[in-house]
Amino acid sequence: FAESTDIVVIGSGGAGLSSAIMATEAGAKVIVLEKMAYFGGNSTRAEGGMNAAGTKQQIADGVTDDSPEIFYKDTMKGGHNLNNPALLRTLTENAAGAEEWLLSLGAKFCHRMGRGGGQSKARSHGPCDGSPVGIELMRVLGERAAKDKIDMRNLNQVTDIVMKDGKVAGVKVKTPEGMKTIDAKAVILAAGGFGANQAMVTKYRPELKGFSTTNHPGATGDGIVLAEKVGASLTDIEQIQIHPTVIKRNGALISESMRARGGFLLNKNGKRFTNELLTRDVVSANELKQPGGVAYLIVDNSIYKKNKMLRSYVSEKLMTRCDTIDDVAKLIKADPAVVKASFEQYWKAYDQKKDDLFGRPEMVIRMDQAPYYVAEVTPGIHHTMGGVTIDPKTEVISKATGKPIPGLFAAGEVTGGVHGGNRIGGNAVADIVTFGRIAGVNAAKYVGK
Ligand code: ADP
Repeated sequence: FAESTDIVVIGSGGAGLSSAIMATEAGAKVIVLEKMAYFGGNSTRAEGGMNAAGTKQQIADGVTDDSPEIFYKDTMKGGHNLNNPALLRTLTENAAGAEEWLLSLGAKFCHRMGRGGGQSKARSHGPCDGSPVGIELMRVLGERAAKDKIDMRNLNQVTDIVMKDGKVAGVKVKTPEGMKTIDAKAVILAAGGFGANQAMVTKYRPELKGFSTTNHPGATGDGIVLAEKVGASLTDIEQIQIHPTVIKRNGALISESMRARGGFLLNKNGKRFTNELLTRDVVSANELKQPGGVAYLIVDNSIYKKNKMLRSYVSEKLMTRCDTIDDVAKLIKADPAVVKASFEQYWKAYDQKKDDLFGRPEMVIRMDQAPYYVAEVTPGIHHTMGGVTIDPKTEVISKATGKPIPGLFAAGEVTGGVHGGNRIGGNAVADIVTFGRIAGVNAAKYVGK
């Protein structure tokens, strides 16, 4: 005796819940299955923000010259032109609508000034108090899912997608009560990436052996294996992002927004070594060339005063307070004169609006307000750009036929192609909400709702 429903959603992160809400509100009966004890996956850990171009909030802040087209070009360039053009169009044209949808669900998001790596316009959105975006995102999605009375089950790990007559017919699930089968007309795969699966990471990228990861322990790539078992094609599976500002001892992430807001990086010798606003892959590569493969991220009190996330880094001892520039030098064990000269160079760059050393395009603040806050950082595994092949309707594509596998949809980090060879910071939240919503709508249509 099997239970039956219209749609099973595998995974309870941002992609899973966005799709579950849209499908439910279209009239479909939905069950969300989550293997971990907690809901929210990596989405809960998203720190920086959500990129969207042409939002009302951007315009109100005076950023009137951004557009989906510029967003597209920035992302394509940042992704080394490997991004799937149709998927990227879908993202860049629908992210603003996705952000407005979150506002309508009650998200306390503001537009943020300052740009992250690879962005030519300030298009990040997130909690107005600077707290991490993922927590607020999952708060509103969780509340809406509860209001919609969506059946969400934790400790339910999908082990197989069941096919019948060439179509999706349900899933097999490992539950605390034993194995179960759930009959379903459609499945939305929203099981996230594989950044926490060392074996899978090194299978595709042997040189990443031993790197720490910022991912939650459930990011093990189950979704990719599930999809492959039913014949799905994979895209860019070897494209794995390392993020340049990770704390080695525990894999904690220091958000890219710290640099976007004006922070800079020094090496062990106390010298800047890169334009800090380059894309994550390039900053990481530049960092690995420094002594010991580490860098020191430095921010000042003007950021600290306004930013809740930074205050939590300090209270969690991820960043250390230094009352003077000499204290910064002492902490990083560099020559104080060299560190002082690095600060002065940055002040000059701010004053003349031009960074002679590395061509950093925007300084935002002068970075002269003590105390300073410093973290030793190193690159860590952050995001898996590759995954299951989808079309712009989020239908999963069969490896054998090149056509959609009937009834199988996928959204979020489990998919490949949106971000190409490098994901721009702030595009993950944009991706999961935009494509999650599309998956929900299309799966509901597919089941006749
Ligand atoms: P996205 O950002 O794409 O939404 P997340 O990492 O936030 O991805 O969420 C994916 C969720 O899917 C995680 O909570 C993860 O534990 C869950 N998950 C992964 N594999 C399975 C599985 N086999 N069965 C059920 N849930 C799974």
